Amino acid sequence: MLMIECPWCGPRAETEFSCGGEADIARPLDTEKLTDKEWGDYLFMRKNPRGVHREQWMHTQGCRRWFKAQRDTVSYEIQGYETFDRPLLKMDSNDGKAQEGKTQ
Ligand SMILES: [Zn+2]
Repeated sequence: MLMIECPWCGPRAETEFSCGGEADIARPLDTEKLTDKEWGDYLFMRKNPRGVHREQWMHTQGCRRWFKAQRDTVSYEIQGYETFDRPLLKMDSNDGKAQEGKTQ
């Protein structure tokens, strides 16, 4: 099981969280002027990279706050966390916090 470190509550099991998908997707300002393709791209098209990915997570069974995580989709290593008012905090890959309980 993946351990995720909530910026407010600390390390918790993945089952306490809900993934909100790819981070940094801004809603278009003037949606009335978008073509159907542009609107569809905003709603459905995601990068889904193999490697480093920025995601939004919510601590659903805890503080219920949203934050962002930078995660490697191959190794599942979480490289850092970011709140919406604080820049990315890099994880020390040797401290074991983000990797505890990792099964994949
Ligand atoms: Zn929390």
